[in-house]
Amino acid sequence: MISVRDGQNHILVQVERPVPPELVAITEALGRVLVDDVRAPFDVPPTDNSAVDGYAFASSDVSAAAARPLRVVADLPAGSVFEGALEAGRTIRIMTGAPMPAGADTVCPQELAVRSGDDVTVSGDLAKGTNVRTRGEDVRAGSVVVEAGSVLRPQEIGVLASLGQRQVVVSRRPRVALLSTGDEVAEPGRPRAAGQIYDSNRFTLRGLVSQCGAEPIDLGIVADVRDVLRARLLEAAGVADVVITSGGVSVGVYDLVKDVLGEIGGIDFWQVAMQPGRPLAVGRIGGAHFFGLPGNPVASMLTFMLFVRPALYKLAGRRRIFPETWQARAAEPMRKKAGRCEFKRGILAFRDGVWEVRTTGPQGSGILSSMVAGNCLIVLDEERGDVAAGERVLVEPF
Ligand code: AMP
Ligand code: MG
Repeated sequence: MISVRDGQNHILVQVERPVPPELVAITEALGRVLVDDVRAPFDVPPTDNSAVDGYAFASSDVSAAAARPLRVVADLPAGSVFEGALEAGRTIRIMTGAPMPAGADTVCPQELAVRSGDDVTVSGDLAKGTNVRTRGEDVRAGSVVVEAGSVLRPQEIGVLASLGQRQVVVSRRPRVALLSTGDEVAEPGRPRAAGQIYDSNRFTLRGLVSQCGAEPIDLGIVADVRDVLRARLLEAAGVADVVITSGGVSVGVYDLVKDVLGEIGGIDFWQVAMQPGRPLAVGRIGGAHFFGLPGNPVASMLTFMLFVRPALYKLAGRRRIFPETWQARAAEPMRKKAGRCEFKRGILAFRDGVWEVRTTGPQGSGILSSMVAGNCLIVLDEERGDVAAGERVLVEPF
């Protein structure tokens, strides 16, 4: 028996080399992982500029006590530059974003200015620097604006664009081959024979793979036939960075994944001290990482989240590979066996000023509807025993 934490560490050690980088357009970069730090090649904004539509002048020219009118010598739209320097007693009409002219350091908003022909009287806060955005206040030239290993969200992509960048180096999406095993497993959309169940694992796993920013390769269902299974696994390892099967890793007579893997790859079979999802096969087939997940639908999702997801994140070069957990108050008592980690499906809600969590009901490892009803996992660590109502528990929102 191995603990969840030891299993995770063992797997992460195996993932020593990230997938190769590739250059993509920033319009294609959403959700991708940045390979190198991005540094600003120049200050943003590149010059001091006006934060409002109004009049730009030298604050030393005006004092609130003696508000003399200023002479308007130019109109400056955004995108234009005032050539030369502003003389004393002069002002220019300036638009939001237009560079401040030399000689000016302050802007009076249009609403607070009284224009009379070529003269304007300013009022309001006239302290030096008012309504001016200074050069480099957003980003300083040379500073790191997006760190290597970041997942690119809309805002990171916007920052890259603001630096004039049209392309970005990201890691290639890890390719993940998916295979369901078992003679009892039928393809959705086709008729189902007596004794068969429809394949759900390949579809939940496919979604999980995509949510991780990886690329699923669907290799269908493999029957419990030794030679077929061997051939399909070798084929999968040839096209993918990671091969995932579900089913066939427990101790049943037909649990062939175990046998076949023993022949073609270096695989460890683990009993993980967790519920649901005990049996797990981990190792390599050729150049691909291999994960043999349990067949029960909740167990296969959970073991993916706990063991495969961090590996995929590390493969992609992500900086953060474990999800954040929160604390919540147990709204009901929960049964828990000490000596194993338990992951219950929970419903987390904010009630009377605190985050409260209850379970979704029956927690069997085949009850996939518990994942639908829930919005989080309740994570009860190994040492813990039964939980009384009101105690604190860790939750991991989906
Ligand atoms: P196994 O680990 O192969 O003994 O499977 C354990 C349980 O999971 C059995 O009840 C299987 O029918 C079920 N199961 C296996 N593969 C799938 C699948 N792809 N989709 C849904 N249930 C499955
Ligand atoms: Mg099976």
